[in-house]
Amino acid sequence: MKYYSLNKKAANVSFKDAVIKGLAPDKGLYFPEQITPLSKAFFENIDRLSHSEIAFEAIKQFVSPEIPTDVLKTIIEETLSFDFPVVEFNKNISTLELFHGPTMAFKDVGARFMARCLGYFNKNNNNEVTVLVATSGDTGAAVANGFLGVKNVKVVILYPSGKVSAIQEKQLTTHGQNISALEVKGTFDDCQAMVKTAFLDKKLTDMMQLTSANSINVARWLPQLFYFMFAYRRLHKKHKDLVFSVPSGNFGNVCAGIMAQQLGLPIKHFIASNNDNNVVTKYLRTALYKPEPSVQTISNAMDVGDPSNFIRIQELYKNNFETLKENLSSFSFSNKETKAAMLEIYNRYNYVADPHGAVGYLGCKAYLEKNPTAYCVFFETAHPTKFLDIVEAVVKKEQVLPPQIKSVMGKIKEAITIVTYEDLKHYLLNS
Ligand SMILES: *Cc1c(COP(=O)(O)O)cnc(C)c1O
Repeated sequence: MKYYSLNKKAANVSFKDAVIKGLAPDKGLYFPEQITPLSKAFFENIDRLSHSEIAFEAIKQFVSPEIPTDVLKTIIEETLSFDFPVVEFNKNISTLELFHGPTMAFKDVGARFMARCLGYFNKNNNNEVTVLVATSGDTGAAVANGFLGVKNVKVVILYPSGKVSAIQEKQLTTHGQNISALEVKGTFDDCQAMVKTAFLDKKLTDMMQLTSANSINVARWLPQLFYFMFAYRRLHKKHKDLVFSVPSGNFGNVCAGIMAQQLGLPIKHFIASNNDNNVVTKYLRTALYKPEPSVQTISNAMDVGDPSNFIRIQELYKNNFETLKENLSSFSFSNKETKAAMLEIYNRYNYVADPHGAVGYLGCKAYLEKNPTAYCVFFETAHPTKFLDIVEAVVKKEQVLPPQIKSVMGKIKEAITIVTYEDLKHYLLNS
């Protein structure tokens, strides 16, 4: 598969080059040249396929021929070595739990897939690649875990000081080996801006091969389309008119769902559920896309003021606002509403949701009000104990820490504080 830049001012590249570069030289995101729908038979027989078989069929067109069939099968087996349970709440709502991976957030799948692709591309190559990643919490954790010990790959994580949860910070800063963490005095948007500046800094990019492991990287973004297929496989016999509510920040996850739909998956509608960072909610109302500075909320992985993947969603709908609006709704919810939803979910369904999942649940409820016959699946994108303070304060019950979380709690934080882009550059050139 060849990929073009959405800015249309750079050459088309192979999957391999798209993964290694991250972002095109003209600053555009890479996008596949073709999307070939899967066969009807695939969807009719999906119940009989394993998760790995589904994933293989769904992604092979995007990664071949650079990743050979046998290698792809191994990468997928290793990437998906945990469960994706569906929990049904009532006759219209269920949740797909995406937090059973090693860092307990949905980003594990994309990070593990990308790390293995990059490891494969780099195995006979002694040129080190530096993965530079800005995180509001979960990306850095998943990327650090996924890339730990991968040969010839160095990972540098930038996270906003004081704006990630205590457990997330441990997950980012305690790996050692080829992983380092930079604590930025600023917001997530500042971190993301520094990463973008680094990619455009010729002096830096002449000296080192930089790539991104944010969802702008196609190898991080595309595997997320599996989730929608896994949920469909579980639910389609019982429920018609499936809609998905995706707690959204950079819009990589929901965008991957739209890709699954274009591969032929019968999805009726998407809901991008947002916190107070609601640029897209406003866009769907006004047709004007206006980035804003991010504001801090209790669902911090969605504190994004200018979602980088939104441009891919526009491309998937051929830049047609009406088509986009028919397929995608967006709602935005305050911290107060989110906490009330966490409590409601706990009281009504005896289920402890994290703040991101709770925003997804509210998206389902808002959509179902006007579409009462739909069946809505919201994504639980992180394990509730990753946001322990908030969760325990809301449900008023001590939470049991799963082993993945327990194992990082006692470790010692190692991070270097930086303030400006020059600090980052100095670090990269001298470490
Ligand atoms: C990253 C993240 C999101 C947002 O996902 P996007 O693909 O950036 O829209 C939602 N919830 C959690 C827990 C996350 O870590």
